[in-house]
Amino acid sequence: MSPEALRAAVAADLTSGLTPTVVTSTVGTTGTTAVDPVRAVGEVALEYGMWHHVDAAYAGTAMICPEFRDHQDGLELVDSYTFNPHKWMLTNLDCSAFYVADGMPLIDALGILPPYLRNQASESGEVIDYRDWHVALGRRFRALKLWFVLRSYGAEGIRRHVRHSVGMAGSLADHIQKDNRFEVVAPIPFALVCFRHVGGNAPTQTLAEAINAADDVYVTPSSIGDMAFIRVSVGQTRTEQRHVDRLWEIIDRNAPPAD
Ligand SMILES: *Cc1c(COP(=O)(O)O)cnc(C)c1O
Repeated sequence: MSPEALRAAVAADLTSGLTPTVVTSTVGTTGTTAVDPVRAVGEVALEYGMWHHVDAAYAGTAMICPEFRDHQDGLELVDSYTFNPHKWMLTNLDCSAFYVADGMPLIDALGILPPYLRNQASESGEVIDYRDWHVALGRRFRALKLWFVLRSYGAEGIRRHVRHSVGMAGSLADHIQKDNRFEVVAPIPFALVCFRHVGGNAPTQTLAEAINAADDVYVTPSSIGDMAFIRVSVGQTRTEQRHVDRLWEIIDRNAPPAD
């Protein structure tokens, strides 16, 4: 996101009598793990009184390691934040963690207190009634499986997992960058490698199909605008270096020459 474009969009809304209320920065977009400038967007949000949410669905897991936190500089200006432990933090689908700087706006908007839900514990403020933080009354007990992950791996274990994934993705990126048949199409801040064949869309798509025809690796073909590319996401619980090496072997064997 360009903060200048955001500012212009807000100004245009105000001119047409609309009230901008929320802006969402993405730290690690799904397509290429692009990172929005959280601080700059946060400053615009503050200036206009907008709620600023950060979507770090995938990359949020990396923030357990201090060396990745620069990517979300400005977090203290943010109102809410989500990340999905089910993506890269060793937790089974589905599990999305939601943080708010201040829970009161949620409770003001969503809290209900019919007589049959009144009780002493709630009244005294001793417990948090999460039913007042979202639309439904009922909720699944997803925290339990997350608790097991945290207890099993610990913070250090999860950091090791993240760094291991990033290292393996880096090793693949090295092969790709050194080979004149390929180009990396986006920066690699985390463990997603986006690349294409220099011959363009046709060889890139053919290569993606060839990779996925092997029955032990799977990549997602994607595109930005008209440019086809291949996404390799490294981070599954049991992924090891030998799997990434095997993927490179398949890529190397199936890609046609540069021209
Ligand atoms: C995966 C992903 C989502 C989807 O998250 P859900 O919690 O499953 O809706 C949203 N945003 C980004 C950036 C993602 O990578």
